[in-house]
Amino acid sequence: MSDTYKRAVFVGEKEIRIDEVPIPEPGPHQALVKVKACALCTWEQRMYFGHEKIYPLSGGHEVAGELVSVGPYVHLDAKPGDRVMCSPLNRCGYCDACRNGLDNICENANKPVNDSDVPGPAGLAEYMLLEDYQVFKSKNDIPFEELALSEPLACVTRSIRKSNLKASENAVIIGAGIMGLLHLRLAKNMGARVIVSEVNQERAQMAKKMGADEVIDPTQGGYTDQIKALTDGRGADVVYCAVSIASALEQSFDAIARGGRVMVYASIYPKGSKISIDPNPFHSREITLTGTVSQGREDVHTAVKMISNRLFDMRPFISKTYPFSSIHEAFEAAIKPDTYRVVLTMD
Ligand SMILES: [Zn+2]
Ligand SMILES: [Zn+2]
Repeated sequence: MSDTYKRAVFVGEKEIRIDEVPIPEPGPHQALVKVKACALCTWEQRMYFGHEKIYPLSGGHEVAGELVSVGPYVHLDAKPGDRVMCSPLNRCGYCDACRNGLDNICENANKPVNDSDVPGPAGLAEYMLLEDYQVFKSKNDIPFEELALSEPLACVTRSIRKSNLKASENAVIIGAGIMGLLHLRLAKNMGARVIVSEVNQERAQMAKKMGADEVIDPTQGGYTDQIKALTDGRGADVVYCAVSIASALEQSFDAIARGGRVMVYASIYPKGSKISIDPNPFHSREITLTGTVSQGREDVHTAVKMISNRLFDMRPFISKTYPFSSIHEAFEAAIKPDTYRVVLTMD
């Protein structure tokens, strides 16, 4: 076994440096994982294409691999050779957010936890050194590409969980990108009736194929009228807004049921975006407006179990896989509007 490994670092627009880094020994409460698959999320795509410029940065946060070794005082259920999902989000465990059960928004998440020379989750690499709590065991017959997608599924698990979606409720999902479609599949699993609002015809068809009860085009006949017509005039019990369009979010309040919840899921509204909504229904109809980001440890645990026990089929969301050596090609494929997830695989 060589004693160094390759790690991709974003250093500029469409510029990636491949470092040769010594394979570390896990210290106390640490685990070393041989990375087998890393999916290219929109965050990495933004770095690669220079829409956001945080350089140098070692990206890659949707990761699965094989546990290699653990340091002292690690009591994981996984043994060396087992398949694991890696959740590189740092959770200090003792800040106010962590102690209040909001470890997805840990106040110390961006502070260094080891002496790595480059910041970032560093899953675009052949090895990863993790804290033991960041490693989640899977069954060993689950393909690494599917297991890597536990991370986006965990984000959506959190969104659905925080929305208190109940069986038989009318859920409206605005936008049928990968996150919208994951909401659709999970909401269907929970027994909800799902209406998807999507302008793009191909995406609308995909939503239909994935089990949406109704799909509407908000530019044809109006969003509010269509949602009201499909819900006997009551409106949506829950709206998941999975597009970064302020007017789409605003519009969702015009067709919200009594006690309805509006979940802001999409993360990158253009800077300076504002919404204007009538405050009265918060009181008179007891509606709720909130959102979620990333995922808590329990959401990761749930997502990994769903994939590991084949309760959730990730295969339709994997558009293409590329070897690690074709990382540039993989990013070019990932940015295309008709792809869901592109996954890099490491030998
Ligand atoms: Zn992600
Ligand atoms: Zn914390």
